[in-house]
Amino acid sequence: MFVTGLRCLRCGRRYPAELRAYLCEACGEGVAGGDPGILDVEYDYDGAARRFATFDGARDDLFRYLPVLPVGEPGPGLPAGGTPLIPAPRLAARLGLRALYIKDETRNPTRCLKDRATAIAVAIAESLGRREVYCASAGNAAISLAGFAAHLGWPCHVFVPSYASRVRLDWLRRYGADVRVSAGDYDQAFAEAEAAGREHGWYSRNCAYNPFLVEGKKTAALEIADQLGGRAPDWVVAPVGDGCTLGAIGKGFREARRLGRLDALPRLLGVQAEAVRPLVDRHRGESPSGDVAAATTRAHSIAVRRPRNALRLLGELDASEGRMVAAPDDAIAEAQRLLAEEAGIVAEFTSAATLAGLIRLRDEMPLDGRTAVLVVTGGRLDEEG
Ligand SMILES: *Cc1c(COP(=O)(O)O)cnc(C)c1O
Ligand SMILES: [Zn+2]
Repeated sequence: MFVTGLRCLRCGRRYPAELRAYLCEACGEGVAGGDPGILDVEYDYDGAARRFATFDGARDDLFRYLPVLPVGEPGPGLPAGGTPLIPAPRLAARLGLRALYIKDETRNPTRCLKDRATAIAVAIAESLGRREVYCASAGNAAISLAGFAAHLGWPCHVFVPSYASRVRLDWLRRYGADVRVSAGDYDQAFAEAEAAGREHGWYSRNCAYNPFLVEGKKTAALEIADQLGGRAPDWVVAPVGDGCTLGAIGKGFREARRLGRLDALPRLLGVQAEAVRPLVDRHRGESPSGDVAAATTRAHSIAVRRPRNALRLLGELDASEGRMVAAPDDAIAEAQRLLAEEAGIVAEFTSAATLAGLIRLRDEMPLDGRTAVLVVTGGRLDEEG
């Protein structure tokens, strides 16, 4: 392993590379709604680069990036990552882009990018001998964890919000998970999950808590860099909930550059639903708009009112001169239709926010002749489609 240590994104304190660590001891959960002390994994990149030069990465899954992962060997779960980057020429022409690509994360074992984080969680849990796992989730992370746990025969506890769709609950039960439906929203399910996880000593698959999981998600960016032959696109777009996914992708691109696999840093574009947009407001330095508590969106996978990995995301947005935009549900629905009809990609509602966000960005600045990648994070349809 080339991990050199852990650093708190809030206070900068450093910790030794200890696989049991979760949050910063000094910052903890954060006070009075402030940001929690999420840790970031640091590596010896020179050592990792030398390892890549001779590394037999003859694997199709994310463990081909083992030298920049916090595990000594591939984990025992389902094969995550290694998803295709698909050109979408009809959509590119519609938007006036030179090229538009779809990173098709619906091809993961449980049809979602979340499997990349789960693969790391399972690998570490296995190495620690802690084969009982849990998470909080609007659905996808829970389904991912439940799928991997089913594959391995591990007990799995998932905490979902009251509005988790019947389709998602059905997937969870098919995988045989212990499903706990909260009376409240995702934020409440998250609190319940962490309390139970601590009490029982289960291993956490909460990305905005366990620092090692974003290391799995960042492999989406490492793959994009390699799939484009080391030539950076102008924009990379992802939906934003807690901020782990796009924050991880930003880290992945910085690492790809550091390792000599990418010629420039793409700009990150984060998209939230108009109704639940705390990170759009925060990035733009605006106070929260509207009646936040009452607002709803069908983009359940990003309906996070109290994002826990904001510092990571904001840091990556700064590093890449990135942007945040909000898209209303009707624009997301239209984008979902366009992705299917003009690219042949069935995205779940949340993931269609990427295209809606890119169209929104084009209203703010010209995109003619640019290149962009939409990270289509998941492909699960709920009963409402
Ligand atoms: C979880 C999720 C996201 C957002 O990820 P965060 O890490 O919470 O920002 C986006 N799309 C889908 C489909 C998801 O399940
Ligand atoms: Zn700290």
